[in-house]
Amino acid sequence: MSDTEKVDNSKKKGGGEQTLTVCLRIRPMSEDEENVGATKIAHAIEKNVLVLRDPMDDHEDILRVNRTREKKFVFDHTFDGDTGQEEVYVKSAKFLTENVINGYNATVFAYGATGAGKTYTMLGIDNNPGIMARALNDLFLEMDKTSEEMVYNVSMSYLEIYNEMIRDLLVPSAGILDLREDAKGGCHVAGLSEVKAKSTDDVMKMLIMGNKQRTQEPTAANKTSSRSHAVLQVTVIQKNKVVNTSEEVRTGKFFMVDLAGSERAANTHNKGKRMVEGAHINRSLLALGNCINALSDKQGAKYINYRDSKLTRLLKDALGGNCKTVMIAHVSPASTQFEESRNTLVYADRAKHIKTKVRRNVADVSYHIAQYSNIIQELREEIMRL
Ligand code: ADP
Ligand code: MG
Repeated sequence: MSDTEKVDNSKKKGGGEQTLTVCLRIRPMSEDEENVGATKIAHAIEKNVLVLRDPMDDHEDILRVNRTREKKFVFDHTFDGDTGQEEVYVKSAKFLTENVINGYNATVFAYGATGAGKTYTMLGIDNNPGIMARALNDLFLEMDKTSEEMVYNVSMSYLEIYNEMIRDLLVPSAGILDLREDAKGGCHVAGLSEVKAKSTDDVMKMLIMGNKQRTQEPTAANKTSSRSHAVLQVTVIQKNKVVNTSEEVRTGKFFMVDLAGSERAANTHNKGKRMVEGAHINRSLLALGNCINALSDKQGAKYINYRDSKLTRLLKDALGGNCKTVMIAHVSPASTQFEESRNTLVYADRAKHIKTKVRRNVADVSYHIAQYSNIIQELREEIMRL
């Protein structure tokens, strides 16, 4: 399939009740995996179907009866190891940029075990950027097109949640920041820096720099394991320049999240400090998993516990509220990663049933202006009477 092929995202346009878009990316086999003789067990067989083969099958030649060990999963899109960055972006998260411009909230998050390809998808590499820079590039292009009529204000923040503590990745010296609830039940991070974004190159440089500030520690399972969740938040505020047209101000918020590795702490043989980290990561991802379970409950969930972790408090709107959300789950194709891949696929499969209620964020300024005009008029009359 070509990068430019038209993607049918019509069901995701506009407001109303929508399900989460769930995509699945299989990365290419790594050299290490090849070296240990791992076989490829995860295949994208159609544009939205993935087949996972239990490697135990390879040892059951004599029995050969249990063919149910090949399991099919269906997602909105599945990407194989040879799918490029542009195609992944175009088919997964591109439609969100249009929505952000139109004043909707949007979230894209990368899920999967350490080494499965989350950071590659979200941040990318120097000469082949991922979703974060591509989405911002599209936002800039869209703004250029309409700069005659509209005034835009784009700002970005980049933070990490590590051991349930929030740090500013653009201003690491700011220390640990607090998550505060606002009057509308939403959450914001007090003291988080907001940088005006101008060009895609600027953005990519900032993100790469920020990413170097992420807490990474070697564990037994992987040489460098991301133990933190990284959250890029882009806010687009726009107002019509032309006088006498509607005075509305639209605000679109775009969260792009590179989650910490979803592998269980048990697999990494962690001890001491890293065990504490593992417990916290499990707490955030467990809370996320619990929310996903409750939200995807077809019977209608009773109570969604967002308060259990910083991550779920921050992503509350993305999961059950006013937001268009895309989840990109990541797996290795290798037989040595079977357990992790299966866990990720089951998790992603569940997320397909989540529904969000999306509406546009428009503040009708003309209403407020009318209110203030009335007050000014009353004050004038009062002065006249004096
Ligand atoms: P994670 O963030 O999930 O821990 P990474 O994104 O760091 O994993 O990926 C692990 C390694 O595999 C990195 O060296 C990365 O460059 C490489 N990689 C991941 N996905 C791809 C891909 N789709 N194509 C090529 N290389 C990839
Ligand atoms: Mg990573």
